[in-house]
Amino acid sequence: MEDKRTSKITPTVEDYLGVLYTLERDEVPATGAVMAKLLSVSPPTVTNTFKRMVRDGLISIDKAKHALLTDRGRENAESVMRRHMLTEWLLKDTLNVPWSETHQESHDIEHALSKNIEQKLQEHINTVKTCPHGNPLPGNEVYVQDWVPLSQFQPGERGILRRIHEFGEDHAELLQFLEQHGFLPGVGFTVKEILPFNQTMTVETEQESITLGLSSVAYLFAEKS
Ligand SMILES: [Zn+2]
Ligand SMILES: [Zn+2]
Repeated sequence: MEDKRTSKITPTVEDYLGVLYTLERDEVPATGAVMAKLLSVSPPTVTNTFKRMVRDGLISIDKAKHALLTDRGRENAESVMRRHMLTEWLLKDTLNVPWSETHQESHDIEHALSKNIEQKLQEHINTVKTCPHGNPLPGNEVYVQDWVPLSQFQPGERGILRRIHEFGEDHAELLQFLEQHGFLPGVGFTVKEILPFNQTMTVETEQESITLGLSSVAYLFAEKS
């Protein structure tokens, strides 16, 4: 019989673990519907994968049918998050992959990295507390806690863009748009205008005026200045 403690976790299950970890951190219940939307799969597919994950001791399902990470599940989720985020830095800083492409590229590589390489990456990139998009490495959540959702800014308020939420990183066009307009973590801005009827927010950086849809704004966090 296979020992579930040493059985290899598949890339698909690692993707589930990463999403479950992020939902748990944000205190959002991990329902089948939420998972299906975030992973772009059907609800029955989520149900089947959840069953395998319960069998392998990675999650439990509570009475409300929410998936909860077990200790083993969380440990593996933290490992995949670290591998993902550290690989993003490696791609960006060492291989000069454009910022907007590091997430997707890392997503394809992260599953192949061993514990040993994860350790080496951590040593190589030993000072970072976030990924290149500003999301906290597991254990560094405190570091980002004072960054507020951009949606809470009012016209005239100034800030520094700090973070594009993990789930926003999945929107390649949003990342490309931000990169093209130089609206990246660390860049200062002033909120110029919010038009609820038009679902837009316009911010001004030193370089230019940028209009964002409120659905994109929902993924952005900034530091008030
Ligand atoms: Zn990413
Ligand atoms: Zn990232």
